Amino acid sequence: MPNGDHESLELPPGPDGSSVGKALVVLLDGVRFDCLTQASTPVLDGLAAEGFLSPTRIFGTDVAPTLSGPAISSIATGVWPDKHRVPGNQLYGHALERYPDFLTRLEAAVPPRRTFAALDWAPLGLPADGGPVFSDAIAAKIALATAQTWAAYRRDDERLLGAAVRVLRERNPDAAFVYLGAPDIAAHEFGCLGPQYRQAIETCDRQVGELLAAVRARPGRAGEQWLVIVVTDHGHLDEGGHGGDSDAERTAWMLVAGTGAPAVAPATLSNVDIAPTVLAHLGVAWDGDPPDGLVLIADAGFAGLVGRMAIRGVEARRVGDGFMVDVGAGEDWDTLVARAVDERWRGVASLSGIPGRVGATPIQNVGAYGEEVADTVAGVRESP
Ligand SMILES: Cc1cc2nc3c(=O)[nH]c(=O)nc-3n(C[C@H](O)[C@H](O)[C@H](O)COP(=O)(O)OP(=O)(O)OC[C@H]3O[C@@H](n4cnc5c(N)ncnc54)[C@H](O)[C@@H]3O)c2cc1C
Repeated sequence: MPNGDHESLELPPGPDGSSVGKALVVLLDGVRFDCLTQASTPVLDGLAAEGFLSPTRIFGTDVAPTLSGPAISSIATGVWPDKHRVPGNQLYGHALERYPDFLTRLEAAVPPRRTFAALDWAPLGLPADGGPVFSDAIAAKIALATAQTWAAYRRDDERLLGAAVRVLRERNPDAAFVYLGAPDIAAHEFGCLGPQYRQAIETCDRQVGELLAAVRARPGRAGEQWLVIVVTDHGHLDEGGHGGDSDAERTAWMLVAGTGAPAVAPATLSNVDIAPTVLAHLGVAWDGDPPDGLVLIADAGFAGLVGRMAIRGVEARRVGDGFMVDVGAGEDWDTLVARAVDERWRGVASLSGIPGRVGATPIQNVGAYGEEVADTVAGVRESP
């Protein structure tokens, strides 16, 4: 459907936000990371260049089935299914009052931030199947109950998009969440390897472009700081379908761009980072039980001079039947551990995954699983 040709939905009043920091989160349901990278997605490619695009991994079936109910609830609430307790696509038994969606948290903040949601899978926005995930506290919510066919989702995604474009351009949401369901249902109907799924992904790319154009066209855009996050909830099997434990089903992804977005994905990235990151971007403190996710954007930093250890170099020499290794204090510790394992230098293999630089490890005697660097470090010397 070409630009501007959307069948109109009636807009609710508002939202009447006022914050400078603003956030747009777009959820593309069931887009497999490898299929995303193979499709033609110029808009998402351009957006990723302003931040990062990275795969993420969601929970396994020991926690919940890899279905949209638990997976989208994790994105919305910032906690995993062991806490929000959405058990499947029937949401009954959930604990969403204790772990509300991030738009509801923003509405409850002091002063309140005003939010918008556009949703066309019924339990996300309506009292259907134990929902909604996104509560009625949201200032402007458009919620549809779309039939579970690709044709129905193609039509309703376009209607939602048209409404979201108008709200983003003409109204004043502090944070907006837009759900597009067509790619997931395309995979269920046609599998992931055919032209229909690719077309569904490429349509989403064009739709994200329309949302970004609406943000750019805002009259007050120059004075606003927008964070943009695009995310998927789960993957798919080749033949279409998910809910199980395979890598294809558990691999999701996230794109973060705009004000404060890092250029490189943090090592611990996961979909539960989105809710705390949006709250932090809008300057809202997290209330109640802490999130499982981390804040992905930088804070205000340190207003002073910061030194960074930059002594590099790794030199190994044989001593008896072992090795003596001289390492610069500025080398990355975990990279050294990986090399030690490769080269069979014994003594530090258990100390994998510990962040920081080599020079810091003897200062605190880094240790894990009964192994400490004090057992391996032969000496520390000052740089000549
Ligand atoms: C997710 C996570 C997991 C972790 N897991 C473990 C773990 O399993 N086991 C464990 O022991 N620790 C663990 N840590 C702590 C971690 O090992 C330290 O934070 C790390 O060693 C610090 O490295 P850094 O380069 O960031 O040092 P910094 O934080 O920059 O420095 C740490 C201290 O060392 C001093 N220092 C640093 N470099 C030098 C130098 N070249 N010469 C003299 N003084 C120096 C600094 O002045 C400072 O006092 C973990 C930390 C995180 C965030």
